[in-house]
Amino acid sequence: MNTTTSARLFKRALGILPGGVDSPVRAFKSVGASPLFIRRAYGARLEDVDGNVFVDYVMSWGPLIHGHAPRGLVKALGRATPLGTSYGAPSPLEVELALRVRKLMPSLERVRFVSSGTEAAMSAVRVARAATGRDKIIKFAGCYHGHADAFLVQAGSGALTLGTPTSPGVTKAAAADTLVATYNDLASVEKVFKANKGQVAALCVEPIAGNMGLVPPADGFLRGLRDLCDKYGALLVFDEVISGFRAAPGGAQQVYGVTPDMTCLGKIIGGGLPVGAYGGKAEVMELVSPAGPVYQAGTLSGNPLAMTAGIWCLDQLKPKLYKDLAALGSRLAAGFADAAREAGVALQVNAFGSLVTPFFTDRQVRDYASATSANTELYAKFFRGMLARGIYPPPSQFEAWFLSAAHTKKDVDKTIAAAREVMRELAS
Ligand SMILES: *Cc1c(COP(=O)(O)O)cnc(C)c1O
Repeated sequence: MNTTTSARLFKRALGILPGGVDSPVRAFKSVGASPLFIRRAYGARLEDVDGNVFVDYVMSWGPLIHGHAPRGLVKALGRATPLGTSYGAPSPLEVELALRVRKLMPSLERVRFVSSGTEAAMSAVRVARAATGRDKIIKFAGCYHGHADAFLVQAGSGALTLGTPTSPGVTKAAAADTLVATYNDLASVEKVFKANKGQVAALCVEPIAGNMGLVPPADGFLRGLRDLCDKYGALLVFDEVISGFRAAPGGAQQVYGVTPDMTCLGKIIGGGLPVGAYGGKAEVMELVSPAGPVYQAGTLSGNPLAMTAGIWCLDQLKPKLYKDLAALGSRLAAGFADAAREAGVALQVNAFGSLVTPFFTDRQVRDYASATSANTELYAKFFRGMLARGIYPPPSQFEAWFLSAAHTKKDVDKTIAAAREVMRELAS
């Protein structure tokens, strides 16, 4: 594979962008490779600046459930752009998208749009603190809620990949109000609540964890969190930035039948343009400025192009899409498991619908400790072997593989065939 143009561009980028990238995991550091620079993407394909074409399983880290540059979206954006790229004033599109969000997720009685998942989670916590008059929050080791200070304590995603789960620059004061529990372990949560009675404003959770690799909730875990929040007077905040509109049209809250007080959204809600949102009970959300005193604002919030993309994206979420994606997801998961078994490589495959993570470990992966038992060196070799065979996996053991409507059975079978070869190499 010729990657000379990417290598040249990366060298140039290193002199101007920290680490050569604008988001850490893109640098391929943990998989011992150099990043590829992309010149275009279509369907399930990424094409780099040297002309190499890959089946993409990153899909911009989750937003692109309909694939890259779907024709309908490109058309909608083409129609919207000449009407202005930003107004700094209300547009009907914001109301249209918000109504669609509430229709799919009725627990969001009120919705506020922001421009990223980070902003959504950061703002939701501010509102929860205001609503309860309490300071502390509980999160789970290995869960990621964006890069606001309060959440950079034992965080997942790039923080986990690069070995800095708690970041320098986060003050002791900010970290002190963040309490950490163990995913899929209700006893660990109750222990934290008991030790901090009357002080916990919110419990934030990825209802289907996707940022320590994919870790679905154990039976009764989310229901148990709901009960504990009610018992100790804290708000239950679901961070559905990944699971929202991906686990089901109504997110994990629909799948598991557990209703949170607040929800954070991102990724799919913007269809590949920068959108985040938070929302929840009317009485809580009416605290947000200008309805209430909790300040939160954004120059580009509710941006008309981003809203246009979000509306198009949500309008295409049909039941058949989820059925097809789940079939592809289980095909891919079974293919990975078979390939590993044949080669004698220890592999634990977690899957949920269109999300899959092959963990290089013999332990069942259900929390941060078991996820980090995975052999990251083996994953790095697997990554490089797959890349060389035209497959573009997430450049970290601790991320989910994302399928889209543009992926075909043929793409998945090609991926499994590549995995067979690579697993054999890993075993020898
Ligand atoms: C990606 C992600 C975020 C952060 O969203 P950004 O748009 O990257 O700021 C927050 N929470 C979860 C669960 C995510 O997966």
